Amino acid sequence: MLVVQKYGGTSVADVDRIRNVAKRVISYREKGDKVVVVLSAMAGETDKLLNLAYSIDKFPDEREVDVLISTGEQVSSALLAIMLKNMLCDAVSMQGHQVRIVTDSSYTKARIATIEKDRLAAELDKGRVVVVSGFQGIDEKGDITTLGRGGSDTTAVALAAALQADICEIYTDVDGVYTTDPSVCHKARRLDKISYDEMLEMASLGAKVLQIRSVELAKKYNVPILVKTSFGDGPGTLVCKEGATMSMEKVVIAGVTYNKNEAKIVVRKVPDKPGMAAKIFTALSDAKIVVDVIVQNVSKKDKTDITFTVSRTDAKKAYKIMEEMAKKIGAAGVSIDEDIAKVSIVGSGMISHAGIASKMFAVLADEGINIKAITTSEIKLSCVVESKYGQLAVQSLHKAFGLDKEEIKEEM
Ligand code: ASP
Ligand code: MG
Repeated sequence: MLVVQKYGGTSVADVDRIRNVAKRVISYREKGDKVVVVLSAMAGETDKLLNLAYSIDKFPDEREVDVLISTGEQVSSALLAIMLKNMLCDAVSMQGHQVRIVTDSSYTKARIATIEKDRLAAELDKGRVVVVSGFQGIDEKGDITTLGRGGSDTTAVALAAALQADICEIYTDVDGVYTTDPSVCHKARRLDKISYDEMLEMASLGAKVLQIRSVELAKKYNVPILVKTSFGDGPGTLVCKEGATMSMEKVVIAGVTYNKNEAKIVVRKVPDKPGMAAKIFTALSDAKIVVDVIVQNVSKKDKTDITFTVSRTDAKKAYKIMEEMAKKIGAAGVSIDEDIAKVSIVGSGMISHAGIASKMFAVLADEGINIKAITTSEIKLSCVVESKYGQLAVQSLHKAFGLDKEEIKEEM
């Protein structure tokens, strides 16, 4: 097997942990696998370097920022190669420019264009473990670039795709992807597997295990990702194509997510005539404000309320823009509600199962939770509720859709 393993910052935080990484790598080598390791910087290192730059200039030159922050990964990968050799496992470290991971020139958020894999493949053929510095690449001019925060995940998936590896294992400090945030619902459990699309919905909604871009890339090239903890031997969560490794269990809903970072804005009594929604949402998009949920009420006496949510950081700005807009289009006024939470259920099974939406609404109704707005996509259903009910909503939905982990039964 050809395996790409990526270790996050906490997994290489000190020399002892780097030794543990080396032990795991060696155990794969002993099974006869070829191993490419991709590393993040040691925990906290990237922030430390960035803060040094910010201490000089609030807006430091981005080319130089990339020269600076790419060093974190250079350090960790050299240390692992030294460790592996010390443990008598032949290894070689390679930085992004040595592999030749070629990116565009968007410093601090570069995108990978091509990967030249010849040298890497040649090192693997010599029986060496290749330790690649994650997060970094080189542009056409030969300048160092980085791939955005969390970008080592993307390096790992891109290498796995280029080398047609059998699997991309991502080692982190959690033991997999959970059905919901365990701090919100203690009955959350680890999923054995999740589809790329479900993972994308879960990730964008707050399950921050993998950089979203890496999942998009994995989906595009059909790279199976196994998310595992580096602090034990759990089976982890496989992120793969829908139905790729069919299990017998029939899960309709993969998870419940919770977002407290949105605010709801209502533009009241908007004249019910063509062009009003276009005016409102063009003004918001011109201000680069991303709108999430949108609801338009049934009109009464040729007037209608338009409700939408935006991220809380944009709320004040959106409110101001809407106040001006209300005057311009003859709406009655604008109100803002920051006391909301968005609760969503995510699952590919929704496509082929009727009654998921009605069940979600019934569960919330049974708890006396009022729904303020609803939005749907093919595999996601979201309800906006009062923030004080957010946690209760997550817990009841988690239970109702059969996601609660089994209680540990007392010995008889
Ligand atoms: N070290 C980089 C960061 O902290 C990249 C990574 O860890 O994936 O964002
Ligand atoms: Mg990460």
